[in-house]
Amino acid sequence: MDERTGSEAPSPDDTRVGPDGLEEAAAALEAADRVVALTGAGVSTASGIPDFRSEGGIWDEFDPAEFHYSRFQADPAGFWERRVQMHEAVYGGDVEPNAAHEALATLERRGQLDALVTQNIDGLHQGAGSERVVELHGNADRVVCERCRERTDAVPVRERIDDGELPPRCDCGGVLKPDVVLFGEPLSPTTIQPARTHAREADLLLAAGSSLSVEPAASLPRTAVRTGAVLVVVNLEQTPVSALADHELLADVTDVLPALVDLLE
Ligand code: ZN
Repeated sequence: MDERTGSEAPSPDDTRVGPDGLEEAAAALEAADRVVALTGAGVSTASGIPDFRSEGGIWDEFDPAEFHYSRFQADPAGFWERRVQMHEAVYGGDVEPNAAHEALATLERRGQLDALVTQNIDGLHQGAGSERVVELHGNADRVVCERCRERTDAVPVRERIDDGELPPRCDCGGVLKPDVVLFGEPLSPTTIQPARTHAREADLLLAAGSSLSVEPAASLPRTAVRTGAVLVVVNLEQTPVSALADHELLADVTDVLPALVDLLE
């Protein structure tokens, strides 16, 4: 789940994939030399990661202003206290990769997927075995030192917070921050650049489970299409780039991606 973008509520409509659309998309994937996937919140909802923006979502329980970068800077101890509570609310249950994550990992293993760019911060793609992952908004499983920029595992840091270390600090004395892009915090050029390069070099961009409405993810499909890529969009609802899509499958990613894997065998 990506807290910046939120996710669309699952549609109660029939989400069965038209076999024609599916087979055409599979054929396009087969024909492409360089395939890049772009994923968003919709890929993780089936893993039980709650929606942030929908009614009853995380932002009904927590105030987004508490997780703003300016709040972190002004009051890192208070920020972390709430952050740990929110983390428990979002990831407290058994969160495991689902069929969509597994399908993308399978494509990569078979050499049918060259790179994966994600808006999600949950690490579930790596959990499923994907290795070539660009995380646009960081990863909630890590922390980063605001002074020396060293990145480390978040689990022991959350334990230290539970033991009263607020705010948690790096060995160098700097304050630790979740290694995710907070509201009001600029994205790192070192992650945007590889994502743009992947989009430019793709023969086919497979956008899955993203509303494609938040930058920089929103512009990646446009970049890919401008440089000649075929665009395949899999999402429950139409997106702002639907008109550009060569193949649009309005369906659940956990149905469509495994079906594509089967067709590509
Ligand atoms: Zn440090």
